[in-house]
Amino acid sequence: MLHMGWSVIYRAVQCPLIRAISFGQSLHQRGMTTLPPRPKPPSESDCCNSGCDLCVKDIHEQELKIWENECNNILLGQAPKSSLTPDTYTKCRLLDIKSVNHNTSVYTFDSLGYVEIKPGQHLILRELIEGISVTRQYTPIAVPNPQELTFKVLIKHYINGCITSHIKTKWQVGDEVEWRGPHGMFLHSPNKYMKYIMLAAGTGIAPMINVCKDIVRDDGDITTLRLLYACKTYEDILLSYDLKQVASHWNFTYKTFLSQEKEVEKKRSYGENLVSGKITKDDIDLELINPLSTRVLICGTREFNSAMIDHCNQLNIQTEHIFKF
Ligand SMILES: Cc1cc2nc3c(=O)[nH]c(=O)nc-3n(C[C@H](O)[C@H](O)[C@H](O)COP(=O)(O)OP(=O)(O)OC[C@H]3O[C@@H](n4cnc5c(N)ncnc54)[C@H](O)[C@@H]3O)c2cc1C
Repeated sequence: MLHMGWSVIYRAVQCPLIRAISFGQSLHQRGMTTLPPRPKPPSESDCCNSGCDLCVKDIHEQELKIWENECNNILLGQAPKSSLTPDTYTKCRLLDIKSVNHNTSVYTFDSLGYVEIKPGQHLILRELIEGISVTRQYTPIAVPNPQELTFKVLIKHYINGCITSHIKTKWQVGDEVEWRGPHGMFLHSPNKYMKYIMLAAGTGIAPMINVCKDIVRDDGDITTLRLLYACKTYEDILLSYDLKQVASHWNFTYKTFLSQEKEVEKKRSYGENLVSGKITKDDIDLELINPLSTRVLICGTREFNSAMIDHCNQLNIQTEHIFKF
């Protein structure tokens, strides 16, 4: 959210988040932008405290959302268009590398302007490794927006992985890396289904988190979201901060399945919904309210995906209600 008090001029240079970006095209570089004034909040005496259907405080919340959209539209109109496209590779500069656990890191890239990457869509990376051109897909966990013209990918490194071992040993901040996209056919229609059962393993959380954030942000969308997340150990749980944030919304809950964790009981005492073992057919069955108004989303390894599809078939969930990322 933008914070600018009563001033109509937003000085992006004052935003520490944006100042921290050394290479990305930021608002700072785009200069000063004239934005509409932030709506004035009601004073305590403006509220009659008689439980009106639409209280002055609710109206203020609505005004804030409208104002944010107006600001975003103005900033979007002024943002340069990114040269990232589905069919040609664009060199994007690597701005930051953050290790998140023993085998996974988040990489932040300059998106070179604004490009819409819809929830669940992915990008294709191309690397030249020992003279051979290698491509792999990655799903951004953060996409370009009017305030930040960058994207972030969460990448798990495999010891014998062709691209991921190269990434781990070779990539450095400042490098230029070739990407194209976005790609991907996932479409969400608000309120078409009553419930999404989301089955994710490891980095398969990447598309799920964006889909969840998009749905909970929309007050008019009452789709309930239930994530069953499979990881090996407690340390392998990814994006737990984001998961907890999304779980503060009424329509999202999640349960984490740890297949190789020896201290599940101890970890569970930290207040998380953790269970031992893998996701079974019965776990999915428990979540099914009505197979026709439930959609199942799946993202994980090849083995995980085929095990989950087998479970769904045994539960007579029709193929048209299953989406595999
Ligand atoms: C649409 C899509 C989106 C994706 N998004 C992401 C993402 O956001 N983040 C991410 O980290 N990956 C993602 N992947 C997987 C990614 O594209 C690569 O397959 C992965 O990074 C491994 O590439 P590699 O060249 O290092 O391994 P490879 O050389 O292809 O494989 C070498 C060995 O590594 C191991 N391995 C490789 N991939 C897996 C796996 N998925 N599970 C278990 N073992 C494996 C296997 O032992 C394999 O034999 C996505 C895949 C798809 C299809």
